Amino acid sequence: MPVSDYLVTIGLEVHCQIKTKSKMFCSCETGFGFEPNTRVCPTCLGLPGALPVLNEFAIERTLLTGLMLGCSSPEISQWDRKNYFYPDMAKNYQTSQLDLPLCLGGEVPLYPWSYPNDVIKAGVPPFRTVKLTRIHLEEDAAKITHHPTYSLIDYNRAGSALMEIVSDPDIETPEEAYAYLKSLQQILNYGDISDADMEKGQMRCDVNISLRPKGQSELGAKVEMKNINSMSAVRRALHYEIQRQAEELDLGIAQIQSTRRWDDENGESTIMRTKEDAHDYRYFPCPDLVPIHTAPLLEKVRNQIPELPQQRQQRFISEYGLNEYDANVLVSDLELARFFEEAAQGSTNGKKIANWIINNVAAVLNEKGITPSECPVKPLAIKELIAIIDDGTVSNNQAKEVFNKMWDEPNLSAAEAAKLLGFEKADSSFLDSIIAEVIAANPAKVQEIIDGNDKLLNWLTGQVMKAAKGKANPKIVTESLKKTLGL
Ligand code: ZN
Ligand code: MN
Repeated sequence: MPVSDYLVTIGLEVHCQIKTKSKMFCSCETGFGFEPNTRVCPTCLGLPGALPVLNEFAIERTLLTGLMLGCSSPEISQWDRKNYFYPDMAKNYQTSQLDLPLCLGGEVPLYPWSYPNDVIKAGVPPFRTVKLTRIHLEEDAAKITHHPTYSLIDYNRAGSALMEIVSDPDIETPEEAYAYLKSLQQILNYGDISDADMEKGQMRCDVNISLRPKGQSELGAKVEMKNINSMSAVRRALHYEIQRQAEELDLGIAQIQSTRRWDDENGESTIMRTKEDAHDYRYFPCPDLVPIHTAPLLEKVRNQIPELPQQRQQRFISEYGLNEYDANVLVSDLELARFFEEAAQGSTNGKKIANWIINNVAAVLNEKGITPSECPVKPLAIKELIAIIDDGTVSNNQAKEVFNKMWDEPNLSAAEAAKLLGFEKADSSFLDSIIAEVIAANPAKVQEIIDGNDKLLNWLTGQVMKAAKGKANPKIVTESLKKTLGL
């Protein structure tokens, strides 16, 4: 039967590194790019007898994430040991949470601007949220790099604070899974919980997917794919699995609970192992760590809840008069939203500023692969630039040249850059004399314009621009021509 006769059920488990100065259970420094195995101590190396000390800040950040996502917290939260043998976890157990995680329930909104671009163009589905099961805190493992005849282990990452956000099996399409990850990433950015950059491994995603025929209430056997490293790869992997499972079910091949490896290069998944269950890990409460009373910590972080993307989108529309599309583009990237707001602050020109940032600044940043905060042209310079477009010093096209000039020489103000490029607010006598000359030289065409030929007015504007060597502002030239000709 066609794929559309199957119900698809998807759940996501997202691991996210929390931005902290030190690790979860020791005071070793966290960070990226250090000499391997230089940020280690007996605790995060798992040496016998070493004892863990809780990082309270990491706990607070996890609780804050829960508040942002509408979770509740059990009164007492507890640590458990998840036992397994692998060189990336030298203690042979991961300190994690099983029965009493820091956060329960909650939901992730699927923002309309978080869907893949092709979906946004075709029209996003109605707004919905995806239910969460839980968020718990645990420690990250070491990083292993495999080589043909040997492997290298770097324990710098071992013991870093890692938050695991588990969704209910409440996602129905690969596109929703994509939007879920992107929305979650934005929320984590807005809360300054994590940069959640998937390319840097700060956010890592495991997917669960099962199919069942329409009408069957019991879920099908779930297939898990671990550590898929981009949102678009998650989307591709899920499409592939839906197709594969539907074809096998059609042939009467029952699915078994299993873990598969997604090979994004070849676009296929292959079986790794049949799935272990939670009881295989022999979880038990960690005797080295005391349970946590959540109430006082929740009280402490409650006033740290930031403005979230959806609220900011609404505010951009009401405060700056933006249309929905522009507001969506800006809030989807926290840095871009900040860049806009700095440029628009105290200006009545928010709409124009937003437009210019989206169509010109963001486009150049994308092309050069740099972020808004790295942009050499600062928000205030953009504000000035819009002001000199408005007062007629430069046209919109000339403004792009001014922008490029400021990009190369960031110390210049917009007015200074415009002046260096020869774009000056023409004093009217200079422009008037050129206009008079051009009118005198084209009597027949001028008559046609007076008789109502608007197209010729553009042509005449062009003649004046030519005579002014492109230094005049076409809008102002047209206006002056109209005035002179009494139109
Ligand atoms: Zn350590
Ligand atoms: Mn985990």
